Parts: sequence; C-alpha cells; structure tokens
Amino acid sequence: MFIKKIGIDLGTANTLVFIPKKGVIINEPTVVAVSLEDNRILAVGNEAKKMLGRTPETIIASRPMRDGVIADYRITESMLYYFIKKASGKMRILRPEVMVAVPAGITSTERRAVIDATMRAGARAAYVVKEPILAAIGAGIPINEPAGHMIIDVGGGTSEVAVISLGGVVSCCSTKVGGNKIDQAIADFIKKKHNLAVGERTAEEIKIKIGSAMPLDIEESMEIRGRDLVTGLPQTIEIKSNEICQAIGEQLRQIIQTIKNVLQETPPELSADVMDRGMILSGGSGLLRNLDKLISEATGVPCRIANDPLYCVVKGTGIALEHLDVYKRSLR
Ligand code: ADP
Ligand code: MG
Repeated sequence: MFIKKIGIDLGTANTLVFIPKKGVIINEPTVVAVSLEDNRILAVGNEAKKMLGRTPETIIASRPMRDGVIADYRITESMLYYFIKKASGKMRILRPEVMVAVPAGITSTERRAVIDATMRAGARAAYVVKEPILAAIGAGIPINEPAGHMIIDVGGGTSEVAVISLGGVVSCCSTKVGGNKIDQAIADFIKKKHNLAVGERTAEEIKIKIGSAMPLDIEESMEIRGRDLVTGLPQTIEIKSNEICQAIGEQLRQIIQTIKNVLQETPPELSADVMDRGMILSGGSGLLRNLDKLISEATGVPCRIANDPLYCVVKGTGIALEHLDVYKRSLR
C-alpha cells in the first residue's frame, strides 16, 4: 500500500503518527540523542529514550519539544524525517502529503520554518495546523459551526486552552505546566515530606496509579522505592492519594488560571455557547483522575473528557487530511 497522507503530532512527551484508514501507526517518545562532538543526530524516539540518563558525556539525549516550543529546527527536521520515513515504509514512490500539529501560539516565522522542515523531510505538501483545532476535530467537535467551543489540552510540557468558532482560534492561552511539572511536584513533595529521592519515572507512575486532582473519600495507596536522603540507602515507603493531591495543587491551580484567562477574554456570545456546551478536556494529563471535576467546580462551567484524550490531536490530523476542503479555513 502506498502511503499518501501522514498526520504527525509532535507532542512535548509523545510523537504520534496517523495514517487515514489505518489509524495510529507510531507512538514514540519525543526524544532525540545528539553526539556532542560533531552535532550529529544518533537516535530518535524509542531508541533515544533508552539513552536518557544513561549517556556517556559525548552524547546528549534531549526532549526537544519539552516546553511546547520548537527550540531547534534542525532537530525538528530530523525528527520529521525519521517519522515520515518510518511511516512511509519501503514503498516510497510518491512523496506523501503531511500535516503537522503545532502550538496555537506559534508565530508566522515559526510556522514557515515547520513547513520548510516538513518539505525538506520528504513531504510533497505540508500543512501546519494549530493543535487546539486538531484536538477539537479529533474530539468530534463540529468546529466549522458559528458557535464557540472550548478545548483544554493538558499534555506533558504544556497546557493549551482555546476557544474555537468558524474553524478558527478566537482566543487562546498556554502555560508551561503539564504532566512533567506535575511529576516534578510529586518528586519534590516526597523528597521534602518523606526524605526520599525518587526519579521522574516513579513520580509519573505514582500519578497515574493513585493520583487525583481532588481528595478521595476512599484513598488509595502505593509502595514506592527510592533513595533515603539521610542514610543514602534504598528505602521503601507507602504513599497515599490525598498526599499526591496536596502535592500537585499549585500546578493544577496554574492550569485553572489559564482556563479562567481564556474565559475572561472570550467575547460574550461565544462564552454563552461554551457555558451551554461545556468544555472538552484532551491530552494525556486530562486522564488525571477528577481533573474534569475540579475544572468544572473551579470555573462553574461543565467540563468533560474527550474519548481517547491522548489521540485527539493526531486523530484530528487524520480527519483533516481526508477532508482538506472541509477544513481549509483552519489550514492557514
Ligand atoms: P504531549 O502532547 O505534550 O506529548 P500527551 O498528550 O501525550 O502530551 O500527554 C503526556 C502526559 O500525559 C504525560 O505527562 C503523562 O504522564 C500523562 N498521562 C498519561 N496517562 C495518564 C493518566 N492515566 N493519568 C494522568 N496522567 C497521564
Ligand atoms: Mg499534545
């Protein structure tokens, strides 16, 4: 089968690649390993992730999209090349049309740079579309309606909040608080309260297993292992859901403040629509238990989580690629 269309979500945590009629065919961490000596890119994705924290001094493994902005276009181009090549398979006769999701706050120069990078990486045509629009399409929202829809995408490095109407972003705001900062807050809390050093991975595991955005009536607990900061030796402790809830409160407040900022700058007609229809939550951190409930309570606007929140953006690229005429207003 010839691959003609490829959708790419270059997320801060994960890169997903979607092919219409096939679905998500690649899901790898957004990590790149670079050799310091000659600045060469050694590995991308899964292979590079294995090198995180384990590299000799001559190699750095980095997360190039960590804060949701493309810091290095050469690295971005290499990542796009790697994923396009991997998605195209062996039968590469026609160059594919490629759609790339970008943060809503991107400047026109940055947008141009992503288009150039995509073309150089082997695309026949490159479309660059704002993430909240794609997340909304992937969540099944009729974005071309003359009505306001609000989408809240809480990812790894950032949270993006946008109101969409008539296929365009009317207002949006982004914060560099997402799953990574939440993990960091959990690790800091355990260090302070339990004198235990735990790594990023353990903190994430705790969040996913027993974390909650609101206190639970029936708490869950988990045994964790780390390094005792006093003795320097390995140590096991028990940690509870409501401790985690307390640990991440400040990060969640910052996300909620971003949502409030967008609500405040949304024109009244559109905010009435948002009030009626509710807000849609997407992104992997949208899966944090009770986050939808906390957002509803804090803003007074109903909030519900999308189906497959981790896949909304990339599914949106697939739908938009198949219906370019329908979504042409959103491609600018
Ligand atoms: P990005 O688009 O920035 O790459 P994603 O939407 O892929 O981010 O989300 C990645 C984030 O989602 C990570 O911080 C991860 O810890 C978090 N995450 C994934 N599953 C869950 C879950 N069940 N509960 C809470 N957080 C989760
Ligand atoms: Mg994302």
